[in-house]
Amino acid sequence: MTLTDAHFNNPVSDSDPLIANALVDEKSRQQNQIELIASENIVSRAVLDALGHEMTNKTLEGYPGHRFHGGGQYVDVVEQAAIERARELFDAAYVNVQPHSGTQANQAVFFTLLSPGDRVLSLDLAAGGHLSHGAKPNLSGRWFEAHHYTVDRDSGRMDYAAIAAQAKQLRPQLLIAGGSAYPRQIDFAAMAQIARDVGAHFLVDMAHIAGLVAAGVHPSPVPHADFVTCTTTKTLRGPRGGIILSRSDAYAKKLQAAIFPGVQGSLHSNVLAAKAVCLGEALRPEFRDYGARVVANAQALGAVLMANGVKIISDGTDTHMVLLDVASLGINGRQAEDVLAEAHITSNKNPVPFDNPKPAEWVGLRLGVGAVTTRGFDLGDMKVLGQTIADLLKSARDGYNAAVIETAQQAVARLCSQYPIYR
Ligand SMILES: *Cc1c(COP(=O)(O)O)cnc(C)c1O
Repeated sequence: MTLTDAHFNNPVSDSDPLIANALVDEKSRQQNQIELIASENIVSRAVLDALGHEMTNKTLEGYPGHRFHGGGQYVDVVEQAAIERARELFDAAYVNVQPHSGTQANQAVFFTLLSPGDRVLSLDLAAGGHLSHGAKPNLSGRWFEAHHYTVDRDSGRMDYAAIAAQAKQLRPQLLIAGGSAYPRQIDFAAMAQIARDVGAHFLVDMAHIAGLVAAGVHPSPVPHADFVTCTTTKTLRGPRGGIILSRSDAYAKKLQAAIFPGVQGSLHSNVLAAKAVCLGEALRPEFRDYGARVVANAQALGAVLMANGVKIISDGTDTHMVLLDVASLGINGRQAEDVLAEAHITSNKNPVPFDNPKPAEWVGLRLGVGAVTTRGFDLGDMKVLGQTIADLLKSARDGYNAAVIETAQQAVARLCSQYPIYR
């Protein structure tokens, strides 16, 4: 084999054993554990095909029909399809599928609307907000004056009267709804009214729930918000990346320029293909069924945990996630995450509303069922899984309990072999 031939044809298993082994190990990790990180999902083979395609070689800047490089005719097909599918799926007039991440989608909206020093009002991090909504260490918090609303301490839900009062006082240029750990439906119409009353632009970041909105099992923010951003990962079950949507074309030119050349350079051609594939999948009737099963599974998981005396923020969920307050069990979030990991259940410690700012002290554990529902887990499986999790969490309070962990490992192994992923 010539060097050139090897370059084009040798698989990574021949050319780079270190990385090849990590890839093999990662695939088997995914097969042999139960994934409950709420921001994760398991993409289709078709999405993987697109991601690993030679289209990655293509460099393009600009938009279909207005490129800065030649040879873009097939990427144009892909980007146009992604735009049209997103437009149909979310009933949006304006779509930009180029953001490399949810964070960059948000950056582009900030760049479109705000000048440094302008005021932003968004959900507090501890109450489930996102770094890119004005958190101190993020560019959005460094360059803009961010203020945060929180949730009602007793109900764990958004308090619209309190947000309205805060908005009246602050008069922000931008009001943001949406977050990473808020398990309830948001009243988008109420938030839009608050924004209108103070002359603020209104952005909804639906990163976590985009798949549920696409499936029609969660109200859509598109008719209410000036701008909607999301990721294509999480419940939408696509590649890593972001999308910007708007019900109107009013800011189209500015948004186009905000992504390129505002905050990004060339587009990720292969990722655009994968985005188009996932949006196509989300348009099919099966996806509506998937969304309904996700919500039913999350509610079933929450119910089993509550029946076991575990405190759930807002006493339930309307989405794919349940947020546990494990202080009620005498442990913290890290201990909860660790004991689940012993049994090959993957989750993440998380703040709960009004939690300590130090991650080591957080008492929340966030669980999401997007990935396990993709695998095929049903309501009966959620009962088994919920009981297993409750037993593990209770055992963590009394230190390491080998018998409980072994029983849990067996339950997890049974479920994983019952629901295999990629062949
Ligand atoms: C996940 C998430 C993002 C960021 O997505 P990245 O692609 O990781 O940058 C933005 N906003 C919210 C609310 C999220 O949950």
